[in-house]
Amino acid sequence: MGLTGAQGEAEADSGHRTERRSDERLPPGPPHIEDCVDRALDAAAVQRPSHCAPPMPAVIDAVEQRLLAEPLLLGDIAEAVGGPFHVLFPERVSVNIRAFQTSFTQAGVDGFVYFGKKANKAACVARACADNGAGIDVASTGELIAAMAQGVRGEDLMVTGPAKSDELLWLAARHRALIAIDALDELDRLIALELPVRVLFRVLPEGSTSRFGLDRMELEQAIQTVRAPITLSGFSFHLSGYDPVARSEQAAALLGHCRRARANGHPADTISIGGGFGVDYLDAASWAEFQASLSDDWFHTNPPGDYYPYHFPVPGAAMLDAILAHHDLAALLRDNGIRLAVEPGRALLDRAGSSVFRVQGVKTRTTQGNPYDILTVDGTSLSLSEQWFDSEYLPDPVLWPHTPGRLTPTCVGATTCLESDLLSRRRIPLPRRARTGDLLVYPNTAGYQMDSNESGFHDLPLPPKVVLGSAHDRLRWTLDATAR
Ligand SMILES: *Cc1c(COP(=O)(O)O)cnc(C)c1O
Repeated sequence: MGLTGAQGEAEADSGHRTERRSDERLPPGPPHIEDCVDRALDAAAVQRPSHCAPPMPAVIDAVEQRLLAEPLLLGDIAEAVGGPFHVLFPERVSVNIRAFQTSFTQAGVDGFVYFGKKANKAACVARACADNGAGIDVASTGELIAAMAQGVRGEDLMVTGPAKSDELLWLAARHRALIAIDALDELDRLIALELPVRVLFRVLPEGSTSRFGLDRMELEQAIQTVRAPITLSGFSFHLSGYDPVARSEQAAALLGHCRRARANGHPADTISIGGGFGVDYLDAASWAEFQASLSDDWFHTNPPGDYYPYHFPVPGAAMLDAILAHHDLAALLRDNGIRLAVEPGRALLDRAGSSVFRVQGVKTRTTQGNPYDILTVDGTSLSLSEQWFDSEYLPDPVLWPHTPGRLTPTCVGATTCLESDLLSRRRIPLPRRARTGDLLVYPNTAGYQMDSNESGFHDLPLPPKVVLGSAHDRLRWTLDATAR
């Protein structure tokens, strides 16, 4: 924000100064000393005070920019829905899916994308998968049914998760889904069903302390045990962290297992490298400034211990490019006739949805003599899961509508009786004071933020999901099938 010149002045001006500024429409006279002092104060105010976090503007997709720029639409939706809600942009999910598919095509690799469904429950996301030739990675009968209800075929489902229920194994087998086996006793239960079914064996990577997957001995035993009518289609893993090299090397390591399984007469032609593709929420400079100047003074309460890597230079499909390029994994897969599966959750939802809350109350407090506002919005931090992991969701919410005002350090509380229930514990530099009835739009929440933790706490209704798309050069919205 500019500190000098006419535009800087206008931006720095605040709502409650409007009357004084209207004086300026009077014919110009000699400058008042009082006016000069006021201008100096305005300039100081736009310099961020030390009890306020730096601005962290989210990277926002075109359709959402249009929504935020429309003078009425967001307010109309809020009025129609009557509470906090989430907006989803399924066109963006399609773009993200196709980017992964393009990465496979360009590397000359036979690949397949399964959406890790736990990252978001919206029906429109599952529909985008069906429409774009992607499958879905499910871990419960509810997720399996929800995926099929949006048109994803059984054979395009991957079933993961530990110690799957007999009901889930049976349903997956009936619908010819690919089942990732996590333990020997689970394999025994599947064998007992005597159904023709395709399985992957989930491998516990060497040196990992994960509770998931088969260790070396268990894997040997599983390869010896598995028999018709079960088909061993290959192997899988899912790593925490976001390291492309670790994924590439683990994929190469699984080739040896494929060879041994093939020697036992199994097709073993598929390797799944799981999810964990990063998302680039913030530009490099904002993230660097945040890390370099991080201060407990920014927080109303409980400064977090840990943060997601909010700036991620090689995210999503670009990370898949890097995995396939490392030691030419692509050639290794081609030469061995291996189909590579990925299970991205968060990365397919990048910029595909936001969460909208209405400001229900505003109070002003001070810290060491410095004022700041505490907003109460009409929802809870259950709709912003990061707040439940001793962390903080960093992309700044957008205050809507956009009207000029004075930079105001602001934290955001929930409409519950829990002291710690804050959507933003840090003081965000909002461009003006928020007022009751304003909307606060948390950007890029579709991946794990919006609905992973939601419950009917306090008997509050769950925020519904609204689907926004563009048709005939207009933005159109409807309720998601989960909200009807
Ligand atoms: C959670 C999960 C995913 C998705 O992970 P993201 O980090 O969202 O990409 C994929 N596969 C398995 C087995 C998972 O548990």
